[in-house]
Amino acid sequence: MQLRLYDTLTRGKRPFVPLDPNHVRMYVCGPTVYDFAHIGNARPVIVFDVLFRLLRHVYGENHVKYVRNVTDVDDKINDRAARDYPGLPLNEAIRKVTEQTERQFHEDVDALGALRPTVEPRATEHIAEMRVLIEKLVADGFAYVAEDHVLFSPQAMNAANSGLPRYGALANRSLDEMIAGARVDVAPYKRDNTDFVLWKPAKPGEPSWPSPSGIAAPGRPGWHIECSAMAWKHLGEQFDIHGGGIDLVFPHHENELAQSCCAFHEARMANTWMHNGFLQVEGEKMSKSLGNFVTIRELLADWPGEVLRLNMLRTHYRSPIDWTLRGLEESARTLDDWYAVAADAVGDRPAEAIVEALSDDLNTAQAIAALHGLRNAAVSDEQARGTFAASLRFLGFLGQSAAEWKGRKQQASGIDPKWVEGLISDRAAARGRKDFKESDRIRDELAAKGVVLKDGKDADGKPVTTWELA
Ligand code: AMP
Ligand code: ZN
Repeated sequence: MQLRLYDTLTRGKRPFVPLDPNHVRMYVCGPTVYDFAHIGNARPVIVFDVLFRLLRHVYGENHVKYVRNVTDVDDKINDRAARDYPGLPLNEAIRKVTEQTERQFHEDVDALGALRPTVEPRATEHIAEMRVLIEKLVADGFAYVAEDHVLFSPQAMNAANSGLPRYGALANRSLDEMIAGARVDVAPYKRDNTDFVLWKPAKPGEPSWPSPSGIAAPGRPGWHIECSAMAWKHLGEQFDIHGGGIDLVFPHHENELAQSCCAFHEARMANTWMHNGFLQVEGEKMSKSLGNFVTIRELLADWPGEVLRLNMLRTHYRSPIDWTLRGLEESARTLDDWYAVAADAVGDRPAEAIVEALSDDLNTAQAIAALHGLRNAAVSDEQARGTFAASLRFLGFLGQSAAEWKGRKQQASGIDPKWVEGLISDRAAARGRKDFKESDRIRDELAAKGVVLKDGKDADGKPVTTWELA
């Protein structure tokens, strides 16, 4: 099965051929750690987790390296640290904010069934690599020092004309248009208004590091150079896949690509650039001011993580997704059914139809359609049940046993199983003494709380009553 992926740079679906099939390499831009991640942030986490799982399936578990960075240097982090820990020295407060946010992020994405990436590098641990890249770029004329800043010059890149890609190619923009469209009140230290920052001075009290040569005062890196440095350190000068949300195409990824290609004199940084579409909530752009801003943590209070995961994967990753309550309810019903059919079944390989659907540019909607078919076959056939279960696990579902799944739902509904069991035995006693009025009353009392009783017989033919939530 040939894997095909859509590449943002060449704007087409192309066969995926790794540089080294024994060492498939993927980089995805990770969170800036200053607050709880929102449900939009969960989209790249889930999408690239599915791709990671697929690559591991195709090339072998130990032949895929997935790097997702942690951006732990940013103005938003500094602001949050000063606000939340006014009594602490800023550096200590920053450490508290970033460590706590990173922990929260892990708890959230673990609950979404996402595997941990192979490496999760922190920007502040790669300042030395950033300095090396910046100094190379200055030495080769792609960047320059001005007023304690280092700036990258896209115009120098496009003038070099030496097998480098064209600046603007990823975002499909022309540099001339960017120059024409740029704001006029350009920062005084920039030669051209399209130049962007590789390194800048730190304000007093802010975290700072020794600057690249030519700058005496300590400073701090720009955002884009962080990812070029971490990708280089962990994946090499060129690698296979670079991913993130569509909002990162410009300027972040355009600038990463420019930095890395110019530093290493290469035509490419990554062979495939992948971007997930945006998520909106109930038909509107998610924003704090609209009041529809929702964190992963808030959703996890109401829904199992697998419901959020399924709800995300029902839409193809490149399409925009509208996150709705109705969609969540439908995803929850589907998972209840899948758990009832497949939980606790054993199977070792996912169905070929699932692998095939994902191999077509991660067509998860088609994979889910295939799951519905597998589910129907599984009802009456033990081997098919194993394949169905293995397919679900391959996609990151069925992380719980049937009992855990049911128990969690009961917990969420506020129903105490002991209370239900107690009423069931009261009802059995009432029926024993032929007090059907009382037994009906108990049934109604339970039904009012959403508990549905099912009367049947056990293996020995004795009457038993089981229950479930409506
Ligand atoms: P940020 O912390 O804003 O840099 O975002 C982290 C990741 O989440 C990036 O890959 C973004 O592209 C992605 N992202 C942010 N907001 C959304 C959204 N509403 N829908 C989909 N992806 C998003
Ligand atoms: Zn990045």
